Amino acid sequence: MTRIGWTFLILAVIVIGGFLSMLRVGGAAPSAPGSSAPGPAAAPQPAASPIAVRATGHPGLPRLIVPVEGVSPDRLSDDWGDPREDGRRLHHGIDIPAPEGTPVIAAAPGTIEKLFHSDKGGTTLYERSPDGQWQYYYAHLSGYAAGVHEGQRVDAGDTLAYVGDSGDAPAGVFHLHFGLSFMRPGDGWWQGQAVNPYPLLARTVPDR
Ligand SMILES: [Zn+2]
Repeated sequence: MTRIGWTFLILAVIVIGGFLSMLRVGGAAPSAPGSSAPGPAAAPQPAASPIAVRATGHPGLPRLIVPVEGVSPDRLSDDWGDPREDGRRLHHGIDIPAPEGTPVIAAAPGTIEKLFHSDKGGTTLYERSPDGQWQYYYAHLSGYAAGVHEGQRVDAGDTLAYVGDSGDAPAGVFHLHFGLSFMRPGDGWWQGQAVNPYPLLARTVPDR
């Protein structure tokens, strides 16, 4: 073989060898032990929903406090969007377990728009933000606090009701179901677009 031929052969071996080693590295990564992978991969997920991002980027959304007395943000878990009823519907809210009768407090200032009883939510309360664009929904209550009525203005932290297991909550599984909805102009209390409140309640989104 000529000198040029040998040069081509050596170059070809180098190029093909390098290419194969890249393939091996790329192919090995997914099957590598998962010790470091879940952390960075899992962390951003609560904020990954486009709806959640839109909500948290909204300048009119006030800071929310955890709407159950004595529950700190780090005890919340993000079960928004979990399948319910064998996947026939998704969980539009988060569940906050607490002993029966624990005070349910306003997550933010607003006006109590509706006190309502439904098969699913049981004893529920709908509160609208002062700008009308957000609705806070409290469900599975055992009862309302004394004097609570529709049209009442409340501040964050005011006692609205008490934790129960009414509606379709399993008997004895006492928890608050808390929902957050974005309300378009003219939306009634039964309308709105569900938004995941978890990133706001858990403070996983930096303050603006
Ligand atoms: Zn729930």
